[in-house]
Parts: sequence; C-alpha cells; structure tokens
Amino acid sequence: MLQYPDNPYLLLTPGPLSTTKTVKAAMLRDWCTWDTDYNNLVKEIRSRIVNMATQTSSEYTCTLMQGSGTFSVESVIGSVIPNDGKLLILINGAYGERMLQIAGYLQIENSVLRFSETEPVNAELTEKTLAENPDITHVAVVHCETTTGMLNPVSDIGEVVKKHQKIFIVDAMSSFGGFPFDISAWNIDFLVSSANKCIQGVPGFGFVVARRVLMEKLKGRARSLSLDLYDQWNTMEQGDGKWRFTSPTHVVRAFLQALNELDEEGGPVARYQRYQANQILLVNGLRELGLMPLLPDQFHSPFITTFLFPGDYNFSFQEFYDALKQKGFVIYPGKVTHYECFRIGTIGDVHIPDIERLILTIKSFMTK
Ligand SMILES: *Cc1c(COP(=O)(O)O)cnc(C)c1O
Repeated sequence: MLQYPDNPYLLLTPGPLSTTKTVKAAMLRDWCTWDTDYNNLVKEIRSRIVNMATQTSSEYTCTLMQGSGTFSVESVIGSVIPNDGKLLILINGAYGERMLQIAGYLQIENSVLRFSETEPVNAELTEKTLAENPDITHVAVVHCETTTGMLNPVSDIGEVVKKHQKIFIVDAMSSFGGFPFDISAWNIDFLVSSANKCIQGVPGFGFVVARRVLMEKLKGRARSLSLDLYDQWNTMEQGDGKWRFTSPTHVVRAFLQALNELDEEGGPVARYQRYQANQILLVNGLRELGLMPLLPDQFHSPFITTFLFPGDYNFSFQEFYDALKQKGFVIYPGKVTHYECFRIGTIGDVHIPDIERLILTIKSFMTK
C-alpha cells in the first residue's frame, strides 16, 4: 500500500502553493467529464466565481480553461482583440512582459507603456497615451505584479480606460480570491486568474470572468483552436457545464473544495487580512535581521515580497535556499532586472506560526 507522506516543506511561492489536506483529499475519486454529476460541479464553480468577482453578477460570465494561468491569458489576448484592433500593454514586470510576448507570437498590433519595476503603473500617463493614440482598442495590465509584489492601481486605470471607451483586460492571477474585487466598479471587461493561487486549489486550469455582452461578440475571432475563449464559453453555456476536450476533473473537484474553504474562512476579505498579517509580520521580522524589502510599504501587495540580498556579507542564495528547505520552507528566487533579490510568498495554507518559525530559521541562518 502506498503511503501518503506529509509535505516535507511549506511552499512560500506564489503558485503552486501549499494547499490544505482536505483540498488534496477531494481529488480521491474519478469523474466522467461528460456526466451531469461533474458538469453540475462546473456550473456551480462558474457562478460562484462570478459572484466573487462582482456585485452585478448578471452582467458577467465565467469560462474555465485548461492549462496554467498563462494559457488563460493567451486565450483572452488571442480571442478578444480583432484583426484591426490594437492592444496597449502597461508593463512594470515580467508578467506584463509576458502579455507583450503573447501579442508578439499572435502578431497582434500593440503598443507598450513601460514603467520601472519598482513603480506602479500610472493612470495619468495611460490617459495621455490613450488620448494621443485613438487607434488603441484594448488595454491590458497586471493587478499584482508577482515579479516584485507590486499592487498596481487597477481601479484608477479602469476609470481612464472607460472614459476613452476601450476594453479593459486585467491579469489578476496572483490576487483574485485574496483581494476584495468588484470588477464592475473597476470597469474590468476581462479578468484572468487561475486555480492554484489565492483560491488555494491545485494547478491545472485558469478562468476568465468577462462581460457577457462582449463574450457574445467573440465568435470566430480566436487565433488558436484549443485556446478559443468563445468556443470554450459557448460549449460551457450550451452544454450546461461541459468542457471542450478533456477537462482536469480532479483539479476541478479540488477547486470546489478550495472555494468552500475560502467561504468558511470568511471570503476574500478575511483571506486578504490573513495574507496581510503574514506579510507584515514577515517584513517586520526580516527588517530586524537587516533584510530589506525592495518596494516601499505603500506599494506592497500582501501576496509576495521581494527582499534584497543583505549587503554586508557574502550572501549565497543557494546556501540560503538549501538551509531553509532543510528546515521546511521553499522560497522563490528573485526576478527583478537590476537587483539581487529573493522572494517569499505569504499566500496558501500559510499562517502566523509558520511565518514566526520562518523568521527564527532565517535568524539562525544569518547569525551562524
Ligand atoms: C502566476 C502568474 C501567471 C501565470 O503563470 P503560470 O505559470 O502560467 O501559471 C500570470 N500572471 C501573473 C501575475 C502570475 O502571478
């Protein structure tokens, strides 16, 4: 008989992240992808995601898409922008750059407004760009830039985008579920996130919450069969929860359990507060040890934090990583262009005692 061991370490990474035992246990049965038992789970998930995204849920609809989060981003960019459209991408990190890369692969006309990785994207400059370039039809931005932990002012950008009557696409991959959203109030037309971030499911699919009237117009626009957002949505609508092609059934069932656990915790506001308490404790604890966060506190999301390497002694990330892993924590390397840094995620099934233990472990590494 196979043994199912406990996790040897906690993932302090922004997805996949540490999930509860009960989320993992929900995967211990098989489902038929075409059967109504399974399709009813899908229907329930779609409507619960919309309700989590907005108060005006009748105007929005949710599509689930196989693959990691990037597949869902690519399905939106490739299915939403028409051949004569032009996408403005606001970039201040690697995930913004990835949207640009997608537009490049798909040969979608685009223009870029780039900011420093240590600055939030800016609504005034966005407004100026939109005023000077009337050929732009769509605007895309990342909510939490997981590269740094930066929280971008999406509602300010949304206001400007709406004023200029453009369509607004938001990658809320690493924030949705752990942040109080109202995508209608923020003028978001297409929001993308995935199963294995703040909702605390396991990896395997992403989802798109979109304005229904816009979804209805997307037939025949996609540049890829498997990432055709309209066709995927239409099949789920017409087929009452059917997916095109094989769906990640176990992952979907685990996701429903993760949604239940999010409700039990008190929803996105309560989860936000837990993550924020984790993050504040972490930053205060590491500051005392001389490890400084890259970003000023006011720009920070509670999801992930970038710390600069300590300057005063010969710091080896690999040694640090290995020492923490041995004590039960896996952290993330840095990804910021001009700084030597590492990242620590504070999302997932991670709680104050875990962060306290982490700080003590780092302290003993730094003072050995
Ligand atoms: C995780 C993440 C993605 C998707 O990454 P995958 O590796 O494809 O799951 C996209 N954008 C942001 C901001 C993310 O944090």
